[in-house]
Amino acid sequence: MNPFIQLGIRHDIVNAISELGFENPTPIQEQSIPVLLTGSNDFVGLAQTGTGKTAAFGLPLLELLDFEENHPQALVLCPTRELCLQITNDIKNYAKHMNNVHVVAVYGGASISDQLRQIKRGVQIVVATPGRMLDIINRKAIDFSQVKFVVLDEADEMLNMGFQEDIDSILSTTPDEKKTWLFSATMPAEVRRIAKKYMENPFELTMGTKNTGNANIEHEYYIVRARDKYAAFKRIVDFNPDIFGIVFCRTKIETQDIAEALIKDGYNADSLHGDLSQQQRDKVMKRYRERNLQLLIATDVAARGIDVNDVTHVINYSLPDEIENYTHRSGRTARAGKTGISIAIVNGKELGKIRQIERVIGKKFIKAEIPTGFDVCEKQLFSIVHKVHNVTVNEEQIEQYLPRIIEEFKDISKEDFIKRFASIEFNRFLDYYKNAPDLNASVEEGRTRDRDDRPERGASSGPSAYTRLFINLGSVDEFNRGDLLGYICNTTKISGRTVGKIDVKGVYSFFEVPHEDVEKVMTAYKEIEYKGRPVRIEISGEGTSDNRSSGGGYRGGGERREGGYRGGERREGGGGYRGGERREGGGHRGSSERSSSGGGFRDFSGKSREDRPERRRRF
Ligand code: AMP
Repeated sequence: MNPFIQLGIRHDIVNAISELGFENPTPIQEQSIPVLLTGSNDFVGLAQTGTGKTAAFGLPLLELLDFEENHPQALVLCPTRELCLQITNDIKNYAKHMNNVHVVAVYGGASISDQLRQIKRGVQIVVATPGRMLDIINRKAIDFSQVKFVVLDEADEMLNMGFQEDIDSILSTTPDEKKTWLFSATMPAEVRRIAKKYMENPFELTMGTKNTGNANIEHEYYIVRARDKYAAFKRIVDFNPDIFGIVFCRTKIETQDIAEALIKDGYNADSLHGDLSQQQRDKVMKRYRERNLQLLIATDVAARGIDVNDVTHVINYSLPDEIENYTHRSGRTARAGKTGISIAIVNGKELGKIRQIERVIGKKFIKAEIPTGFDVCEKQLFSIVHKVHNVTVNEEQIEQYLPRIIEEFKDISKEDFIKRFASIEFNRFLDYYKNAPDLNASVEEGRTRDRDDRPERGASSGPSAYTRLFINLGSVDEFNRGDLLGYICNTTKISGRTVGKIDVKGVYSFFEVPHEDVEKVMTAYKEIEYKGRPVRIEISGEGTSDNRSSGGGYRGGGERREGGYRGGERREGGGGYRGGERREGGGHRGSSERSSSGGGFRDFSGKSREDRPERRRRF
């Protein structure tokens, strides 16, 4: 017999969930469905996201409500619009073979008149975010006097987001006799308090130990210097060619910066944060869900409730302010029984936070090493090899071109052909990672040290050791970074290992060399011509910072402030990527920073909820 039938779920619902691929109940479904089906208990379920919570309460609701009546009988409150839509959609799917089931999603940022119309037509299940729900209640557009069940989903998140008062007001419009079912991933004191306030002797179910993260998640941390954070992050991504990840940042600006930098560097990434319009958010989520986006760079608030299966990695680019949020973040991977990896990129000072998280999730982090450039290249190479091996060939389409292709390759041996084919992508990584330094930092007396003080090529270098030079050759002369490096080393005879950041622009470029090599470089280029043009080398401003502002707004491409503070500096140039500059985690920005989406200057004093770290359990 189907195990859901054994739990007491009727055939037409079981048929619908079988079509969704639910063969066996998840542990929370197995334990909560029989309790909830009695309809006579208040209930507290301590469960992570991704454990099958929605069906755990959704299936009993479908069993318990009277769908011949067209008035609201169940209210599900949840923190975000995404989750609201997901729950609505899930319940509709479970009820696919039932008659006259009406579920409405009530959430902000969408037309209220559509929602009012649906309510007016008659609904039995209302799934809502608190703000919009209260708005509709205040318009006296809904009658909750016959509500039998209230579900508070992701209760901890609703409290985190400051919905306590709204929830109080909403629940005051429902009958005292209703049953309340509360689900929460964590059980901080605030959730305990509301459980006490709204419930009588609730049946309590804890999946795993309290606050424990999903057992299928492996937690790893990497220690890097703040200035190498972005480069280290890219290495981790490059080392995982099939990554399908969510990258968490603390603020909207950070998400935008990282996404812009990644896009500029050729990655398939986009940001998701609260400043985007609903439409923009939907678009980003659609691309991510459909896997047209490989990396989603998100704030905590924006990513809440995201239910995308098969997320392989959650990356904490910056650790959250609150420990609980780590659980929420990591819960975006390893959903529905899959495995996943949650990564934290930290500096030495943040190790204490890692230990605190370990205590909360009840699991140890593994200290991982940033892969070397060689590791990345090898991994990428074999990824290409596997892709070639596993590709599905469209025989019909390719056939017409085969004779020409074979003709083109007739003089190339099989071995040579394989080499060339694999090199197409591989060269890109070889070029980027040749001479790549070790980015792992060791921690000594609470300080983070580089094991290798050479900067990543393409990353900024230390401010004191290098001089930034201008050269009047660039991409129009068909130089890429590798070519330029080769050209400089050939002419000057300085070692490629010592050359720092190289920024190739259109008609000019910048490169960094150790102070002691400047003279050598200048002398070597004194009489040199390139394609009949004298090559000109100049010291670019002071130290490593660049004062050149001509030429289309290039500003301080490789500049780096060691302390990470960029006192209100601005990037010109249309809000696009900012001159290859690295964003450093923990680096505080000045009080006015240009937001690339808005174009205006943001005043941090007017932070929105998302940018304002909430005052709860802080590290
Ligand atoms: P939830 O915790 O409700 O967000 O569910 C997480 C994911 O697990 C969703 O994609 C569900 O469709 C899926 N899921 C829930 N219950 C089951 C089940 N019994 N068997 C297989 N997948 C499930």
